[in-house]
Amino acid sequence: MTPVQPTPQSVIRVSQRLTPLAGIAAVGPDGGVHDDDRRRSGWRSFWSVDDPVLRDAGLRAEQEIAKVRLLLAGLLCLIPLNAVLKDASRQENWIGLAIAAASVLTGFGFLLLTRADVVPRWVGFAASMLDVTWVSIGLALYTVIGRPDIAVNSRVVFEVYFLCIAITCVRYDRRVTLVTGALAMLQYGLIIWIATRDLVSPTDWAGAGNGHFDPADQLARLILLGMATAISLLIVKRIQQLRVLSVRDRLTGLVIRGYFDERLGEEFRRCQRTDSPLSVAMLDLDYFKSFNDRFGHAVGDLVLAAVSRAVRQLVRVEDVVGRYGGEELIVMLPGLDKARAAERMEQIRRAVSRVRLEHDTTPVPGPDEKAAPVAPVLTASIGIASWPEDGVSSMEALVFCADSRLLKAKASGRDRVVADQVDESPSVSGRAS
Ligand code: GH3
Ligand code: MG
Ligand code: MG
Repeated sequence: MTPVQPTPQSVIRVSQRLTPLAGIAAVGPDGGVHDDDRRRSGWRSFWSVDDPVLRDAGLRAEQEIAKVRLLLAGLLCLIPLNAVLKDASRQENWIGLAIAAASVLTGFGFLLLTRADVVPRWVGFAASMLDVTWVSIGLALYTVIGRPDIAVNSRVVFEVYFLCIAITCVRYDRRVTLVTGALAMLQYGLIIWIATRDLVSPTDWAGAGNGHFDPADQLARLILLGMATAISLLIVKRIQQLRVLSVRDRLTGLVIRGYFDERLGEEFRRCQRTDSPLSVAMLDLDYFKSFNDRFGHAVGDLVLAAVSRAVRQLVRVEDVVGRYGGEELIVMLPGLDKARAAERMEQIRRAVSRVRLEHDTTPVPGPDEKAAPVAPVLTASIGIASWPEDGVSSMEALVFCADSRLLKAKASGRDRVVADQVDESPSVSGRAS
């Protein structure tokens, strides 16, 4: 994702005609909303880039899926193997065995592929489409050996299509499920056409042993494939909703701390293995308690949501932004060394300082109003720590280091990014304008 450049001013709109809360609209630095938040309708929403949380969950599940696929393919081998042992003279039994063996081999291939540090995004699509295609190849081969009756009346091979569609559910991606189901229907339609193109009468296969050709049966099979796809799509949708609810904070849309820690741990280990840098930034809003005391928590909530959106707009697709505490955010920046992370966070600091109330609401007098100044402009303090530059050996130490620099940023005047010890030479520091 190309980061959106902030426009000079971001505004939290407060309409004075309505009650304060009902009239508030939060707008991000680009005057719009983040891609992730944009509600698209119909097909666009279906095909749009999915939630990073879901994409990540799907990719992380690939290795597990690859193991299950391999196990299932191995179990499926038992069926044709049994048939071959019973009657080795029948070609169709050998075809079943060959197809099951080929699917075990491709299963191994996918397992190896998912062991890579970065699992390619196309793996889910490729594995699901290949599963379906193996079934179709098996059915097509029956017609090649002169047994079209088995191709369209098979009592075991056809059912494997349903397994192929069902297993797509664990990929958390409706696109994969839809493509797999549609491909199964298309390929099976072709099989019917190939198998029956030389058929003169439906009873032509009567003596072959697998029944005659019944168009109504074939139509029913296609409809069943469609229904299995529809049910799987519904299951994926429900899984997606639950997954998002379980890891995203409702107010800010950011990931919750537990999920962030899990991802950071994984990324830290990956960066150590691949010797690539990893930075973490902690951001805390300045004098936010006073802000709440003055304008009320409802307005504070909207400001917090707008700030979170602004941060998400300015990070890359591979970065993860979490809500660490109340109004404390944490950003993981894989692959960025300290200098580049400081640059990025400085951009974010400036974007936060552009968030304003369009119209001042009636202040709610608070006990602390006199004690701490209410900043007319909202500001944030940020601390950054990087691996390997800071010499930390665990993700906990990395977060601790970023947190102590955040405290330094607070102590040295707020509204600044601190990436090095303040007492030494601050990498980036200073107020905007
Ligand atoms: P400092 O500059 O030292 O950070 O001052 P501060 O007032 O921001 O202090 P602190 O970081 O401890 O802020 C905590 C305050 O943040 C307490 C609470 O009023 C506010 N806060 C935390 N979570 C939320 C939230 O979800 N909504 C709202 N509106 N306010 C929150
Ligand atoms: Mg604060
Ligand atoms: Mg705080």
